[in-house]
Amino acid sequence: MGRQIESVAVLGCGTMGSGIAAASAAAGCRVLMLDLTAEAVERGLQAVDESDRHLVATGTFDDDLASIADYDWICEAIVEDVAVKQQLFAKIEPLRKDGSVISSNTSGIPLRDIAAGLPERFQHDVAITHFFNPVRVMKLFELVPGQHTDPEVIEAFASFGENQLAKGVVHAKDTVNFIGNRIGCYFMLSGLHLAKPFLADGMSQETIDAVLGRPVGLPPTGLFGLIDLIGLDVMDLVGKNLAVNLPDGDAGHRFTAFPEVEQRMLERGQLGRKARQLGGFGRVQRLDDGSKKSETFDLVTEQWRDATEPDLTGVPAELGAVMFQDSAEGRLAWQIFGGTLRYAAGLVPEIADDIVNIDNAIRWGFNWALGPFETLDAVGTDRVIAKIRDEGVELPAMLQVLADAGSPTFYRDGDDGARRYLGRDGEWRPIPA
Ligand code: NAD
Repeated sequence: MGRQIESVAVLGCGTMGSGIAAASAAAGCRVLMLDLTAEAVERGLQAVDESDRHLVATGTFDDDLASIADYDWICEAIVEDVAVKQQLFAKIEPLRKDGSVISSNTSGIPLRDIAAGLPERFQHDVAITHFFNPVRVMKLFELVPGQHTDPEVIEAFASFGENQLAKGVVHAKDTVNFIGNRIGCYFMLSGLHLAKPFLADGMSQETIDAVLGRPVGLPPTGLFGLIDLIGLDVMDLVGKNLAVNLPDGDAGHRFTAFPEVEQRMLERGQLGRKARQLGGFGRVQRLDDGSKKSETFDLVTEQWRDATEPDLTGVPAELGAVMFQDSAEGRLAWQIFGGTLRYAAGLVPEIADDIVNIDNAIRWGFNWALGPFETLDAVGTDRVIAKIRDEGVELPAMLQVLADAGSPTFYRDGDDGARRYLGRDGEWRPIPA
């Protein structure tokens, strides 16, 4: 009999903890919500549907930590600080019952750092359970085992995530930012840098966002709109974490620090939507007559101006075709979006054992129409390979595997009609159910 999760103690009731508590209670689980203060818990409780609140007990770390003994899953979602997380885990470890499972919702701190120095029982029972914000909306649920995590623990989280929370489970490895954020943040951080020459040549931010939206299968927020949603403060922390934890030689190192203009925006608190009137790359002004006006922060003049309509004249609607166009929009799409596809194609097996987990993570976590490998199939891997070879650079690992296998696609239907994917050893494998 494996581990069973029927109740959840959520430690930290901020954005993520309250979302995890609300989703678990909505699935019929008994939930305990703890935080530093009763006020913080009360705020978090508002995220739980009123009809589910009878399932929720509340308390504070100081007074009620021992109550976790009555819960199957201890889920930590406190501030992103390794020392603070470790201190809390050290306190709860002697209090939790045998057989319980334990996890951190960290965005990117390696599990080996969080678990360092904690007892053996902890090392066997811990994993990272990485939800995306907002928890009840986003499908992606990344699961990361540590070096000593018992496979039963991962099975219990996978089963709970899939069956109780209706999430899409992705199996990731204990590498910086896991799968979704490793690739998604590469797109954003490289995009800030690689967009500069296009901006200097007069392409508007609105056009850049539009080119990096529907024409390549991304949501309409494109590049700057997406960073405005997430916040420059969060991106700054992500960049700093990447700078320390990316492997030597990783292409992402070039982009971990902001360009000068974005650094100045960060320093004045011009962080994005959360900064309201200070705005980010864009803002909405309320006029005296009650109407609203959208403005864009021009990254060349560093002044606010009226938002303009994007210009997609000549940009093909066919997915990804813009990358092969001899135009400024084509070069932009190839460098930023195509660069992200190439980056992803070089990360197997470092961040995931197969392309399926990467495709699922990016579709479910970033709402791309297709994952990176599915996109490569759709746009034509032959065209991508030819373009990379024209540039005189090496093919990323999975494109090399594809070229060696002589296959035009990463996915195909087997003789039995079942869909298969290309493994990193060049073998075709059925896609896990
Ligand atoms: P948050 O700031 O909304 O909530 C953090 C909670 O931690 C607060 O309720 C606060 O009271 C508590 N806290 C602060 N200092 C503490 C301390 N010293 N000891 C114990 N508790 C303390 O943060 P969040 O966005 O919910 O993030 C929680 C975790 O989830 C972090 O590890 C974060 O990296 C991760 N995460 C966040 C997102 C996101 O988009 N917000 C997405 C995925 C993962």
